[in-house]
Amino acid sequence: MAKFVSKDTVTQVKNVSVHDLAVAMGHKIKSSGNSWQIYCPNPNHGYEKTPDTYISKSRGHFKCFGGGGCGCQGGDAITYYSWSTFGEWDKDNKEHFIDCVTGVAEIMGIPVVYTDGSVSNNERRSIIRNTPPRPVIEDVEPQPDEVCDRVYRRFLSLCPMYEEHVQEWRTKRQYSDEEIVAIGLRSIPREYSEVNSIIQTLLAEGYSLERVPGFTKKLRRNGNPMNDRDWYWSIYPSGKYFIPVRNELGQIVRMRVSTGRPDSKYAWFSSPPNIEFESDPSKMRKGGASSGAPLNIVAPYQVLQAWEPGVEITSYFRADFVITTEGEHKSHISANKLKILHASIPGSGNYKGVVPTLKRWGTKKLAIAMDMDALLAPEKKGGKNQYVFNHLVDFAKQALDEEGIEVVIWCWDPKHGKGLDDLLLGGRTPIEIDLRTKERRPVSLALLLT
Ligand SMILES: [Zn+2]
Repeated sequence: MAKFVSKDTVTQVKNVSVHDLAVAMGHKIKSSGNSWQIYCPNPNHGYEKTPDTYISKSRGHFKCFGGGGCGCQGGDAITYYSWSTFGEWDKDNKEHFIDCVTGVAEIMGIPVVYTDGSVSNNERRSIIRNTPPRPVIEDVEPQPDEVCDRVYRRFLSLCPMYEEHVQEWRTKRQYSDEEIVAIGLRSIPREYSEVNSIIQTLLAEGYSLERVPGFTKKLRRNGNPMNDRDWYWSIYPSGKYFIPVRNELGQIVRMRVSTGRPDSKYAWFSSPPNIEFESDPSKMRKGGASSGAPLNIVAPYQVLQAWEPGVEITSYFRADFVITTEGEHKSHISANKLKILHASIPGSGNYKGVVPTLKRWGTKKLAIAMDMDALLAPEKKGGKNQYVFNHLVDFAKQALDEEGIEVVIWCWDPKHGKGLDDLLLGGRTPIEIDLRTKERRPVSLALLLT
């Protein structure tokens, strides 16, 4: 006869905090302001250079922001256990629910009481049934920015521009051909032979691909991992097209990949080595490096056209007022429309790196323009995504108190567009909210453009 776990046990398990479970599971936790930081517990996330998953201290929610976020998030120990163990949480069907309840109970030493009255007493068992810990791998330092810049520029110049992508850039994104060229958009070669001939050209021209994120050595079919000659250079992620990511010196330091996948539309061009833990030879990689998740400094395309790699952006363009958005297209479209410098962040809430950059530039004011659906959550109490909002207010306070930089939020009616790009392409402008005074005023384009 089927046994059912009692409500009482489920309640006890639900009362376990994400923090306590993470500790009990042996996950490394670091305190940071209002959150705890951990490496993403999702085993499918892959190698991370920095712990970019946050557990809110006040509310106990957790969310992964690493590389733009892998979807790993939740509000309790059950979802945390599910992500850690199964690499997913099925919100709708709660597929792993009972496995998660008994799993958490076992780790936390909570007796599991069944509806028929029987008990499995976890206290007597050895406490931790741990999933094998993720291997700790020595960090591979990517090549310096100027080396990556040279390789990426030559590589992009050899990459194709497929008709369907050009059409997408012209119509969906409404870029002019000048903008497409200035930004440096290129298609990812589809055929193996095409990739290989580009790689051979780079190598013949003397470029080293070693530790340039996105490039990797793969093992030939039936090759021997111990034999150096069985490894060949290639690129790791596949997808539709590349979007260059620049630093404040105009160097192309990383690339984003438009994946064409509905679940995660953008990924980093990143190739962390995995030979130390990958047992499937067809998936083994070495020689590459992880991209990390740097800021993308985006200037209007006329500046991009003139920008000499290695020269500070501030010698071309004013940085007294800067906008922070999330997403490469968003930033380019907005920078071109508004003629304002953008510091594009790699994931919502991932503001690390913004303030030091603004400080170097002597920036006086920062506007944060987030997607409205990230900030507004109509189904929640107060209609706000409190976690994201608290994160923002904290960030704004820190920027003002410690660095004297005024931070405002740009908002708009989500009816008029999800992102700032949609809003501007629709010919509308945002409302500005002063986070200290809560004062709201319309943003005047005329004023911005003077
Ligand atoms: Zn993750």
